[in-house]
Amino acid sequence: MPPVTPLKAASNNPRPENAAAVAYAMQPDEPLFCFSPQALTDRANVFLNGFPGLVTFAVKSNPSEHVVRTLAKAGLTHWDVASVHEMKLVAGISPDAKFHYHNPVKSRREIEDAYKTYGCRRFVVDCREELQKIVDIVGPSDEIEIAVRFVLPRDRGSSAHDFSTKFGAPEHICVELLKKVVELGYRPMLTFHPGSQSRDPQTYVRHIEAAARIAKTADVKVFALNVGGGFPANYMLSTAPEPSVFFRIIDEAVAKFFGSNTPKLECEPGRGLVANCMSALTRVKLVCTDGDDIFINDGVYGALMEYMQAPELKPPFRVIRDGKVIHGPVKSWKVFGPTCDPLDVLPHNLDILEGLREGDYIEFGTLGAYGVSTLTKFNGYGEHDVVEVEKVFTV
Ligand SMILES: *Cc1c(COP(=O)(O)O)cnc(C)c1O
Repeated sequence: MPPVTPLKAASNNPRPENAAAVAYAMQPDEPLFCFSPQALTDRANVFLNGFPGLVTFAVKSNPSEHVVRTLAKAGLTHWDVASVHEMKLVAGISPDAKFHYHNPVKSRREIEDAYKTYGCRRFVVDCREELQKIVDIVGPSDEIEIAVRFVLPRDRGSSAHDFSTKFGAPEHICVELLKKVVELGYRPMLTFHPGSQSRDPQTYVRHIEAAARIAKTADVKVFALNVGGGFPANYMLSTAPEPSVFFRIIDEAVAKFFGSNTPKLECEPGRGLVANCMSALTRVKLVCTDGDDIFINDGVYGALMEYMQAPELKPPFRVIRDGKVIHGPVKSWKVFGPTCDPLDVLPHNLDILEGLREGDYIEFGTLGAYGVSTLTKFNGYGEHDVVEVEKVFTV
């Protein structure tokens, strides 16, 4: 057995190079996330330098303090939040943070907390009753920005998750909502979400065209257009163009459809920003050599939940033993998670090292988005430390 170095106690140690070094030094028996601040900073710069407008971060995609702190340091000032809890988290790290409360459904207590405690001046609506709540709580104010969220019928297969079924109003309702926002003296804008892992840039074009049509029909000059998240990352079964391709096509579409009435642009990426900054380091608990079953210490109730919901988001993986990545002949293994629930099994058999042993580690890459977010406490599991490394494994 390799020597165990107390990595966490020695905080002035240089950062371990990668998950293999972490496995060697800590020999963790519980799953943990490896996080590369450098990978996230590099990706943040791609968005900050390339997107033709304001870049915000969808906190729900990775609400870990490490990520929020790194993004604040990289220069992010505005945060797309789904709840007051997320405002509290971000404000604790970045006291000057500005919030876009872009969850279309908020309780009255949440609206009041957001407005009074966290200084939030941006709310999204997709129905009249939600707008009325804001009127009742905030009253007249020319500081309040209301983003009207619209939805288009979905292109089948254009994104990994269908975002068109829950939120967003059809165009004719949005026309009425925009007029109402102006009548109330609030600042009108439009927003959409094209669906997570939107691989086709034309999806954004269709939405930008619709936004221009809605504003024109309502005869309202929108001061901003938020093009949502949806920017894709590369997974084993789902690859996508670079962000720069999306940025150029979005910029051209806004100029084409809005002409001289160009609104300020905003985006609020989650996945596209954070997917590649974290991996999950898991450990093999049991190898049943009579069959093809293996059991690892993390699963679909932990860091791998999204993989079960959307099997096309299959993460890359590799085996680590004695601090080294091991290559060799592979075998198709059925991979079970640690809980006593039969659903806790990965959606595909994985081709992993044939000679896999109890105690080996498996690093799953590209789990920076919707990995930390969806951990459950099912069966008492769910705690995941975050360990900073230089590099994480990606496709
Ligand atoms: C989830 C969400 C996002 C982030 O979506 P990704 O697909 O992860 O980029 C952005 N905006 C809103 C309103 C969301 O709900």
